[in-house]
Amino acid sequence: MKKNKIAVLNYHEVQSSKQYIAASPEERSYALRSDVFENQMAALTLMGFRCGTLSDLQKKDAGGRMFLLTFDDGCLSHYEHVRPILEDRGFRGVFFVSAGLIGSGRCMTASQLRGMVKAGFEIGSHGYDHVPLTTLSDQDLRREIFDSRRKLEDVTGAPVRSFSIPRGFYHPRVRHCVVSSGYGFLFTSHFGLHELGGDPYYIRRMAVKSTTSSPDFESWVHGRAYARQFMEELKELARRGLGFKTYQDWAHLKAQLRMRFTAAPQ
Ligand SMILES: [Zn+2]
Repeated sequence: MKKNKIAVLNYHEVQSSKQYIAASPEERSYALRSDVFENQMAALTLMGFRCGTLSDLQKKDAGGRMFLLTFDDGCLSHYEHVRPILEDRGFRGVFFVSAGLIGSGRCMTASQLRGMVKAGFEIGSHGYDHVPLTTLSDQDLRREIFDSRRKLEDVTGAPVRSFSIPRGFYHPRVRHCVVSSGYGFLFTSHFGLHELGGDPYYIRRMAVKSTTSSPDFESWVHGRAYARQFMEELKELARRGLGFKTYQDWAHLKAQLRMRFTAAPQ
């Protein structure tokens, strides 16, 4: 890992084995079992990594191996399962919450959010209603970005400094609104390492899912994720309709690249 790069890990639901087994295949795709999560935290300690904070992102040098933990969707499981695991290790984390969903379904309640702040964790905004932001009117965009911040600060009594884009749709308009709403950090779902001291309004993350293998996890935090990052960047280009006429063109290119990277000597 180069000194000036940091792995910003992104988690969603972290469920008990019982909940995980009962979940639908769709729910499981982003969920992780809490024992797997705990093993990953233990592995980070064993590999000599230190858990960073938002302020560390602004430094040019990590001063050793470092990672940052982020959690999207304000899940109840973050309070029930993640909090005690992180507290045991003295790890920190940023928890992104959709302001309009507090206390609904399997989301944390207002008093649980206050409990998270009291325990030293940071709350960030994940919009108001967890909707894609790119097609919204200016007024609706302001509600998602500005009003969500105000509501979360009212609920927790703590400053909300960071925003994570719901469903990952990054756009310059979103960035502009995040900056003008007073946030200091914008987290995307674009895969890759973040450069310390780099653009705080375009922070790449690596989403850890149930399909993430232990060797993948290890290579990501060590900064050996270039092939995957390259693939994700191509995917992003395809999504924006640049360079590919049809989705089939993209699928064909992806298959060829995968063969090349799989066959490449280590
Ligand atoms: Zn989300």
